[in-house]
Formats: sequence, structure tokens, C-alpha cells
Amino acid sequence: MKHKIPIEDIGPLANEMAEAVSKCVHCGFCLPACPTYNVLHQEMDSPRGRIILMKSVLEDEIGLEEAIPYLDHCLVCLGCETACPSGVAYGKLITPFRFYAESLRKRSVDERFSRWLTKETLPYPDRCRTVTQVGKIAKPISSGLPGRYKAMLGLIPEDLPGKQSLPAFSPVEGERKARVALHTGCVQQVLAQEINLATIRVLVRNGVEVVIPSRQICCGALALHTGDYETSKDLATQNIEAFPPEVDAIISNAAGCGSAMHEYPLLFQGGEGEVSANSFSEKVVDISVFLNQIGIQPIPPLQNPLKIAYHDACHLAHAQGVVAEPRNLLSNITGITILPIQEGDLCCGSAGSYNIEQPVIADQLGRRKINHILATGADVVVAGNIGCLIQIKKHLIDQNKENGNPLNNIPVFHTIELIDLAYRGKL
Ligand code: SF4
Ligand code: SF4
Repeated sequence: MKHKIPIEDIGPLANEMAEAVSKCVHCGFCLPACPTYNVLHQEMDSPRGRIILMKSVLEDEIGLEEAIPYLDHCLVCLGCETACPSGVAYGKLITPFRFYAESLRKRSVDERFSRWLTKETLPYPDRCRTVTQVGKIAKPISSGLPGRYKAMLGLIPEDLPGKQSLPAFSPVEGERKARVALHTGCVQQVLAQEINLATIRVLVRNGVEVVIPSRQICCGALALHTGDYETSKDLATQNIEAFPPEVDAIISNAAGCGSAMHEYPLLFQGGEGEVSANSFSEKVVDISVFLNQIGIQPIPPLQNPLKIAYHDACHLAHAQGVVAEPRNLLSNITGITILPIQEGDLCCGSAGSYNIEQPVIADQLGRRKINHILATGADVVVAGNIGCLIQIKKHLIDQNKENGNPLNNIPVFHTIELIDLAYRGKL
């Protein structure tokens, strides 16, 4: 697509945006892959429509306020990148565009407050834990609250786990194959620390020494995808400084965090810190990919067969191209069957803080995903991202309540938790 984007006036990421625009040939192959197009059925809520909207704003053909509602609907799931035959790097258009737009747009007091609340709590485990505990108490009165606050409280699980700390260093059992640093996430530490503990157990069992840098911080994914450039860059800088260079890999066990840490070079492009951001990002690897690379010790076969519905988190499958590795890893468990989920490429509606900022669309996508999961007849659901796990668990519980089967909830696990349980004979 030809464009007249004034690259020199827009800033350091204008080239990336212009390149993505110029590669789009309007073919529309991305439309069926787009979750919002699937539920809203209009061109402006499709990837092709959004590319034209962003181009028109950058060319000053239309005002930002005309385009912004449709751009806010985008989940940044990158399903369109996977589907695009022309190689349009949609992520390198929408993320810089959101940085650009954020500096120009006017937000309501309510929007500013909820964004402030998200920014000041979710990335900090202790604050997040306190707010979550207060939120759990307030949950019974949530029906009277505005949409996004109701959605926020709705995501808090009934079974809030207690605080569990992680060891700063975990030595290997037997011969040492590698030494890695683990990124532990922020919300994950509060709602599902078991994922980190399972990750450490599986790694050390397989000869991998694990260090947990104490100065690490939130990956910045929420800030990155909501257009907050300064916060994303600040968090990225702190992480780059916190992780020791003398490790074989930086392990991520949350698709959203792994994907955000792979995007650090975009934040430093052409400026100070670019080299460090590149070397940091090159070391980041999802736990499923890393364990496939090193090969794992045999797992005792299951006593009873187990049917698994494996959900592809968008930030693993689309953003990082990680599709085969989690399945390969799970297939080390003799006795499991991995069942395909219909429309498996479509987002579950979680997408960072999307289910708080766009609760109506997120709810539609969540329900749609649960219907497809239940149709598989699986015994358990497995995914590699804390956001998806929370969203799926919430919608499973809600749907079963609505159907009069409140106790019929199938368990939801992270991939690494299932491997860990199988190793320990607890499946
Ligand atoms: S599939 Fe790619 S080239 Fe075709 S309309 Fe979508 S983004 Fe543009
Ligand atoms: S990132 Fe996802 S929601 Fe946004 S346009 Fe692409 S497919 Fe649609």
C-alpha cells in the first residue's frame, strides 16, 4: 500500500510503522484470523481496517479520535501476523502507534484512574496481593460497579493462594547441563506461584541450575500494549540491568512476559541501550522451548489415560511462533491424548489487561473459547500463560454456574505444572 506518512516528523519508530503499512496489499486473508472481526463483524475492527485507520491518522487524513475506538478494540494477539501471506508485521505498527497516540489522546477521569490503578498495582507483587485481597472482599458487591471494575474483581479467584517465596538459587540434581535465570512474573507470583515452583523443580530435575535475580521486575507487557512508552522502557531497563549476563538462558514461563521481553529492542531502537536490549532479548526463551532443546529425563507413565485440551496462548503461538514445543513436551507423558480445540488460533479474550479495559468483547471471546474447550470432552485444560489460565478458569466457573453444574469444573494447568505433577506421580 502506498503511503505519505511523514516519517521524519513522527519519531524513531516511524520507519517500522511505514514498512508495515507498505507491505499490506489489502487481500483480507487476515480477517477470519482476527478475534474482534469474528465477534464485531465490521471492517474497521479487522486488521486490514485498522492498518488503513492508522495510516490515515499518521498521514493526517483523519483525526485520532475517529480511529481510536477501533484501535482500542485490538487485542494485539497477532493472529493477523500469522495469517498474513505478505509478512505484514502488524505488531510493529500497532505498538508504536499506541505510543504515538497516547501522547496525543485525551482520556476520561475514569479511564485515567483505572489505568493508574492497573499500572501501580499489577506490576508489584506485594501491592497486587493487597489489592487482590481487598478485591476479594469487595467481590460480592461488584455487580453495582462500572464494567471495568466489575471485570477486575471478577478475575480474582475464590481460592486465593497464600504468599510463597522462591529460592534465590536452586542447585541441580546430578550432572549440571545449564544455568538459567528465571523471570517470575508479577501477577503470576500472586495468583499462581505454583507455576514458578513447578518450573524450578522440573529444571533442577533435568540438570539445570536456576537463579532468580532479586532486582527483576514486571516485564512491562501491560504498559507496552497500552501505549505507555516511558513505563515500558523503564521496566525494560531495570530488567536488563537485573539479569546476570553469565547465564545460558533467561527463562519465561508466561507467554505474555516472554513476548514483551522479546520486544525490548523496539523500545531502544537507534538509541542508547540498543545493544544490551538485543543481547537480553536474544537470551529470553519460553520454558517449553528450552526443555525441548535440552531434552528431558523420562517421565513415569500415567496409571490412567488423560485427555488434554491444549490452548495456544496468542503470545506464544502468534508472537513467538511456539506451537509444536509445548505439545512435544507434553507428549513425554505416556498416557495423555492432546485434543485439538476448534478455532484454536483465536484469542481467549485475556490479552494482558484487555479483559479489564474491554470487558464486553473479552467476555464474548471467553465464552466462545469455553464452548470449544468443553466440546472437546477433555479432562484438563492446559496453557502456557497466566492470563489465559485466569480467563479460562473464570469462564469455566461462570459457564458451569449458568448451566446449573457449579461443581463440574475441569482443572486448568500451566504446561509446566502438568509435567511436574507427572514427574511426581500426582496426575
Ligand atoms: S493478510 Fe496481510 S496483506 Fe492481506 S490485508 Fe491482512 S495485513 Fe494486509
Ligand atoms: S492483533 Fe489480533 S485483534 Fe488486533 S487486528 Fe490483529 S488479529 Fe485482530
